[in-house]
Amino acid sequence: METPEIKEVPNLPKALSLEEKKYLLAVERGDMANVRRILEKAQHFNIPNINCVDSLGRNALTLAIDGENLEMVELLVVMGVETKDALLHSINVEFVEAVELLLDHEELIHKDGEPYSWQRVNLSTASFTPDITPLILAAHRNNYEILKLLLDRGATLPMPHDIKCGCEECLRESKEDSLRHSLSRVNEYKALASPSLIALSSGDPILTAFQLSWELRNLAFAEPECKSEYLELRKQCQQFAVDLLHQSRTSEELAVILNHDPDKPSYEVGEQMTLARLELAITYKQKKFVAHPNIQQLLAALWYEGVPGFRRKSSIRKFFIISKKDYRTILTGLNQLLWYFSDLERKRCYHLSGGDADWKNERDACIKWRGFAKYIST
Ligand SMILES: [Zn+2]
Repeated sequence: METPEIKEVPNLPKALSLEEKKYLLAVERGDMANVRRILEKAQHFNIPNINCVDSLGRNALTLAIDGENLEMVELLVVMGVETKDALLHSINVEFVEAVELLLDHEELIHKDGEPYSWQRVNLSTASFTPDITPLILAAHRNNYEILKLLLDRGATLPMPHDIKCGCEECLRESKEDSLRHSLSRVNEYKALASPSLIALSSGDPILTAFQLSWELRNLAFAEPECKSEYLELRKQCQQFAVDLLHQSRTSEELAVILNHDPDKPSYEVGEQMTLARLELAITYKQKKFVAHPNIQQLLAALWYEGVPGFRRKSSIRKFFIISKKDYRTILTGLNQLLWYFSDLERKRCYHLSGGDADWKNERDACIKWRGFAKYIST
């Protein structure tokens, strides 16, 4: 049963009575004995209003959460103070224990098919927009512990609709408020790009980070108004993949990562390297990943395999040794990698409008590209 909303004009909190001021002050100070006394009194006489808010819109629960006073939060909840969006507040300030307590409480009071407490707050005075769910907020804070709590209790990941989606919901939302509609998509992607959320929810975090960063790149072009946000998130995904790579401590671990192919059994030492993951990184234009020192080290080791003391030889002798090697055995991944780098130099060299090489300003790139072009065959 929904009670009709009482119109308050304007939307400012009512002035507090002396009793209410004392109550909020006692909560803020963490004065348990006094708060308990006031709450017991309120149960009998309905005075003071235990859900009152101060001039900044903070109620007793918000004050207790801001003060990180778990005992006080518990007392207020047990004594029947309305939780409203307290869960979102506690996630926002990353107060894990309060999040747990409020989730337990919500499970007790929530009825199937009805909105949750935080969805029932008055929109004009709410601190969070309706598209901010507990999971999205926790992902924005990138808080691993809270995300785990929420996922364990069945929270689901946001599933942003395609930018050109014409479903009823999208049409209605963009008609109602197109800015809100765009921002809620940004909010969803901002959550999905949270490293903690990727780590907790994906079976293949590096692949997820690659795919998401690609998606974000396309979004940046499709929605120019939010371009900088999307590009920033893209950078975050790429950095996450690099950070994961950075965790590899031995050549073996690195080889397992770079040869990972979800459709095949994992790489064993001594097998032929396919470098499937590295190829994928190139396909998804993960420049920072490909350029990571660990990968460069592994590639160098592959090039020089079976040529003892190769690195110490002069470049002319190196060239003759390489040309004797059978080129067919050179890995496609390596070839692609060279293509990738040479293509970068080519673009830098031939950036002039007429398609001419810019020898004057990009001499270095032009020389490198000429060098690459000579030796690389398709
Ligand atoms: Zn849609």
